[in-house]
Amino acid sequence: MSAERVVESSPDCAFEAHFTDALQMFDAARDKAPQAAAVHYFDTTLSYAQLDQDANALAAFWQEQGVLAGDRVGLFLQNVPQFVIGLIASWKLGAIAVSINPMNRARELSLLLEDSQARVLMCHDYLYHEVVSQLDQRPDNLLLIVAGDHELQNRNDPRIFGVPSAPAGEGFFLRDITAAWANAKPVRTRIKSSDIATIVYTSGTTGLPKGVEHSHASYAFNSEAFRSWAALDDGVPILAMAPLFHVTGLILHIGVAFACSTPLVLTARFHPEVFAEAVQTYQAAFTIGAITAFIALLNADKVRPEQLASLKKIYSGGAPIPEAVVIAFRQKFGHDIRAVYGLTETTSVATAVPHDRLAVCNEEGVLSVGLPIHATHLRIANEQGQALPTGSVGEILIRGPQVMRGYWQRPEATCEVMSDGFLRSGDVGYLDAEGWLFLVDRMKDVIIASGFKVWPREVEDVLYGHPDVREVAVVGVKDDYRGESVKAVVSLKAGAQVTPEQLIVFCKSRMAAYKYPRQIEIRDDLPKTTSGKIMRKELR
Ligand code: AMP
Repeated sequence: MSAERVVESSPDCAFEAHFTDALQMFDAARDKAPQAAAVHYFDTTLSYAQLDQDANALAAFWQEQGVLAGDRVGLFLQNVPQFVIGLIASWKLGAIAVSINPMNRARELSLLLEDSQARVLMCHDYLYHEVVSQLDQRPDNLLLIVAGDHELQNRNDPRIFGVPSAPAGEGFFLRDITAAWANAKPVRTRIKSSDIATIVYTSGTTGLPKGVEHSHASYAFNSEAFRSWAALDDGVPILAMAPLFHVTGLILHIGVAFACSTPLVLTARFHPEVFAEAVQTYQAAFTIGAITAFIALLNADKVRPEQLASLKKIYSGGAPIPEAVVIAFRQKFGHDIRAVYGLTETTSVATAVPHDRLAVCNEEGVLSVGLPIHATHLRIANEQGQALPTGSVGEILIRGPQVMRGYWQRPEATCEVMSDGFLRSGDVGYLDAEGWLFLVDRMKDVIIASGFKVWPREVEDVLYGHPDVREVAVVGVKDDYRGESVKAVVSLKAGAQVTPEQLIVFCKSRMAAYKYPRQIEIRDDLPKTTSGKIMRKELR
């Protein structure tokens, strides 16, 4: 029997797509109720009409500056309204939004700006001072838009950003643009459903960042498909727990909010008490985030169950979800956490637990990551890509409207992961007789620390930049709070005296906080294969 499952739609939540591009989804939400809240940010609320006006002003300004359809716009921002304004403005112009992790430091940012050949960069003023101004080189012609921390009320909430920094002194303030261009003529470029809506960077197994292209069709499809799968009602607030720069935030927060014509509640960054306060204030009904965020809520003494009472639909993805956490969360807050499984390459969701069922558990106590969502086909395959029978363990292959267009300017890398119309996920798992998907392991060496992916090779490359380091191998080690944390095993050059603590400081200044190794072990030699390759596996 073939293990290929074809799930078109389940009878209890029939799915009909309405939109073929992401901007249509936004336009429909705006036209439905222009004065309804689109974004809540602490004490500030933007209506759909205001959001549209600000995005139009920005798009008109960019147009005047010579930004064209297809140009890349970097969004180097936290979970703030300006992220949404920048995204819509990009689409109005037919430009491509490139979301960039605000934890990135100068070395990482310059790689992404170069690879995407960004024409515009939007950032906070604190990120301008800490990161952008530290870049050795910037792409020619880069138009810098500074979303000052002080532009919206409470932006400088000390719990979030600390003391506001001084104005950037170069580039343009978003506030000035939205004021000066408030009455600009509507900007609208014809969008084809196959055009790229967003590029999200992921790291390949080689550790080099690859831009994943999401078409407008995939963006709109997965936003609507998940809305239907989770049976989310129109107008019911969504609280963004996941970062907006990640595909989870882009689709399951922003896309789903537009699909439901609903307000999106933003809190800059995840903090358990701030999150709980926002849920209660805005009566948010849906959220999705990394399991570590739910663990943080469980462990936050000041978070009371009544604060989360309205949060009826909760999903988690990106990393394994221990059953013990699901049980503890249910006991404390009375809500179930359901899994989604997907990749940046599947524009977020590929499988998810239906809203009206609980995930099945296998004999080892591992929870399933759900059933394929609408129009999504899964195949469990052997190394040759051939389908294996039900229950067999193999690589998970995914086909559906949410599979990426390809990697930005990397046709060979795209060919490597596409097989017979399916995306090779690099994850290993199996399907049970009812079609529930179970993940077994990751084929790739990625380390998942607090839900963030860390690629060993990238950390190794930084350590190799230290003059005392001879060889290095980076592995993930079990960590009760982060799930996994980064450990480096290092051998030193003859006579070198550097200590593990000094190496940690070296790494810390060169990479995002979730990536630098928390442990460094110094050994005389590292284990190697006969061909001389360092064996990471031996060190785990
Ligand atoms: P990303 O591209 O950052 O979204 O990472 C995708 C990877 O995260 C997948 O290939 C899986 O290895 C992992 N992942 C996603 N969802 C889950 C889940 N529900 N449980 C365990 N691992 C997951």
